[in-house]
Amino acid sequence: MVGKARVSRKVQQFTESVIREMTRLAQQYGAINLAQGFPDFEPPESVQEAACRAIRDGYNQYAVTWGAPRLRQAIADRYRQVYGLDIDPDRQVVVACGATECMMATMLAVVDPGDEVIVFEPFYENYGPDGILCGATPRYVPLVEPDWRIDLDALRRAFSSKTKALVLNTPNNPTGRVFRRDELEAIAELCNEWDVLVLTDEIYEYITYDAPHVPMATLPGMADRTVTISGASKTYSVTGWRVGWAVAPSDIADGIKKAHDFLTVGAPHPLQEAIAEALRLPEDYYRGLAAMYRRKRDRMVAGLRELGFRLTTPEGAYYIMSDIRDVTAMDDVAFARWLVQYGGVAVVPGSSFYANPADGRTKVRFNFCKQDETLEEALRRLQASLPRIPY
Ligand code: GLN
Repeated sequence: MVGKARVSRKVQQFTESVIREMTRLAQQYGAINLAQGFPDFEPPESVQEAACRAIRDGYNQYAVTWGAPRLRQAIADRYRQVYGLDIDPDRQVVVACGATECMMATMLAVVDPGDEVIVFEPFYENYGPDGILCGATPRYVPLVEPDWRIDLDALRRAFSSKTKALVLNTPNNPTGRVFRRDELEAIAELCNEWDVLVLTDEIYEYITYDAPHVPMATLPGMADRTVTISGASKTYSVTGWRVGWAVAPSDIADGIKKAHDFLTVGAPHPLQEAIAEALRLPEDYYRGLAAMYRRKRDRMVAGLRELGFRLTTPEGAYYIMSDIRDVTAMDDVAFARWLVQYGGVAVVPGSSFYANPADGRTKVRFNFCKQDETLEEALRRLQASLPRIPY
């Protein structure tokens, strides 16, 4: 009999999401989940109401595959209002199942096998598999500790005639970096020189503390070579709704529409209608969101430092990437497994954010998108359990 591998070489190249595995372990051991980044509090009442109303009002069949017209209009209006971007809601916006599908559909739409895609490292774990599933070769460029700045020489060396796209996640998961205008300008210059597209992940755009978020598409000339990806999950605390969007030049948007149509047809219609309303929330809402997360950040940064964790204060998003060498001699995976089982707190092993796991062995990622009581309890549990670490 001929022996054939039952799963493709593609999927053999990556593992199950470690972040979601940690969520399962957290549930199994009754641990507080500071691993997978989702809030343990409810979205704004008016947004919940809008979803229920949309279901009752009959928005229960497919929307236009690339997004309900009302939502695309609301997205275009918001980008104009906040960033001064001029977007055609009919030709340049594609709504899909979360920023996750947007990134996948975008890569499928722009990348061919053999193309190279530049990814800053440490990176949000999805970008690796996204690239592999498209047949692309990822080129990793390290962010330099302790401030996680871009190493411009390393970045320059990563570009070649094979480079098709660069993935830019700002505010950044897992480092908390908010890339500054000078860094974006340096990236833009290289992308212009090498005719490279920028695929951004701006899902934490409203969660910044120390510097404003600058979308790559707002830099001179860059709207034409940038796909701006964002979504509702983090801004409105609705990670389970799966509503995200990609804003792109119309020729690229056409490609993304096709990939998206055959992947999922569409994002949930009533939830799209609800997010169209959420996008009209007053500015106070966004200020309140950032202020709330800033308080949580300050508390967790101080609390973790007191416990001996060595970390750089995040400037945005809701994660803390911390060194663990002052706390334990265990590696990241051993520590995360011990902590979820015996310490009652789940974190993400640092290695899941690096192509070479060895580079993340001394780190773990905490999230702080939880209620104050949850965070206080997590700090108490850490304080009680750290002295009991076996080594
Ligand atoms: N973006 C969230 C995180 O980084 C959730 C990711 C996921 O489910 N893989 O934790």
